[in-house]
Amino acid sequence: MSKKLLLKNAHIEGIRYFETYRKHGGYEAAEKALKMTTDEVLEEVKISGLRGRGGAGFPTGMKWSFLAKPEGVPRHLVVNADESEPGTFKDRYLMEFLPHLLIEGMLISSYCLGSNVSYIYIRGEYSWIPDILEEAIEEAKAAGFLGKNILGTGFDLEIYVQRGGGAYICGEETALLESLEGRRGNPRLKPPFPAVKGLWERPTVVNNVESIAAVVPIIDITGAEYAKIGVGRSTGTKLISACGNINKPGVYEIDMTITVEEFIYSDEYCGGIPNGKKLKACIPGGSSVPIVPANLLLKTINGEPRYMNYESLADGGFATGTMMGSGGFIVLDEDQCVVNHTMTLARFYNHESCGQCTPCREGTGWMYKILKKIENGQGKMEDIDLLWDIQRKIEGNTICPLGDAAAWPVAAAIRHFRDEFEWHVNNPELSQTQNYGIANY
Ligand code: NAD
Ligand code: SF4
Repeated sequence: MSKKLLLKNAHIEGIRYFETYRKHGGYEAAEKALKMTTDEVLEEVKISGLRGRGGAGFPTGMKWSFLAKPEGVPRHLVVNADESEPGTFKDRYLMEFLPHLLIEGMLISSYCLGSNVSYIYIRGEYSWIPDILEEAIEEAKAAGFLGKNILGTGFDLEIYVQRGGGAYICGEETALLESLEGRRGNPRLKPPFPAVKGLWERPTVVNNVESIAAVVPIIDITGAEYAKIGVGRSTGTKLISACGNINKPGVYEIDMTITVEEFIYSDEYCGGIPNGKKLKACIPGGSSVPIVPANLLLKTINGEPRYMNYESLADGGFATGTMMGSGGFIVLDEDQCVVNHTMTLARFYNHESCGQCTPCREGTGWMYKILKKIENGQGKMEDIDLLWDIQRKIEGNTICPLGDAAAWPVAAAIRHFRDEFEWHVNNPELSQTQNYGIANY
């Protein structure tokens, strides 16, 4: 059974409220941190090996140490709660059921970074959660954990919750900052990174909800103990939101030593695939990472088991980078049609493109149109090659990662499931009435 750090108290009735949270050890890590120097807190986070839980997996301690500290210029912590990646809903769970864990993590992190005004930018669709967060902020303030001169240390902190307007692109950190400043959420060119020039051109750390919540157990048990959990550079625990064709969709905390097979089939986690269906593929880290076919998902190309961690999910057979992504684990059974699924994603990325760069603005539209044509049984064989060519021209040629995120699912679908695209071309009538999965299994 995986060790629980973030969700260990999630089952306790009333844990959402300060009194209950405090009764179960809440804010003890903050009390401990506020007695340490800011350098000591930073060192604990570095030693823990925590990697950003929003999707990129960038080392949190390293990001914090990049924060510029020009004399007299305020610094900010901004929590990215614009969780919009299809298949990803773990931050929603944390904020809804454990809001004080996030507030406590923000207190420790803001203290370490020297931010006296910190923000939570939350996606507009999570319309009921800002009230939960604001209530928790008020409770923490009333108890002396926010506001002026916290616990007599001389440290001041105000936290504000900002609701997004419902655009996926505002989860990209620089688009988020633009939006927070009151403008249209268009991504900025990086560098400069927000750590140097962020909110109102001030040094800013933007971190995901889960990353900041994880700072609480790191201070609580120490960075060294945290680093002992997990394996290699995949330290600590990770929240996974599991959905799709599984018996037990939900949010799970894993310690990154379990295999993908165990995660899908064991009763402790997803509980297997309904109706005895076979596993076809999975998107292990939210829709911005490529689809992975069952044979590569359960075993590496060397025949070793595939583990639920950054390294194992990065090794061999995939397009690029790690597939841990945002922890949105989407399972597809044998009845699903990869062409249909890829078309749905292409429509999503086309709709969410901010339109600043030509390859993304035009390319996502073309990919959607061609996929729709193939899916409707009106495609030709050369359309598959055209699709491949378009995604190649998007990848690496855009301002922000949305372009890559739109290209990778298409590339992986063609690379691993070309036969399904060809079936649609070769069976125009059938493909109008049936999907590939149901027709072929
Ligand atoms: P990134 O690799 O560009 O950056 C990661 C973080 O490290 C950023 O905060 C960046 O500012 C910082 N950083 C990197 N190099 C730095 C340097 N030299 N100096 C200072 N800071 C530096 O990735 P990203 O654009 O932040 O995130 C992309 C990921 O987001 C994708 O992999 C995807 O999985 C994920 N994603 C998540 C969601 C969600 O809802 N959780 C939605 C869309 C995408
Ligand atoms: Fe906008 Fe797409 Fe360019 Fe990102 S890649 S800046 S979403 S057009």
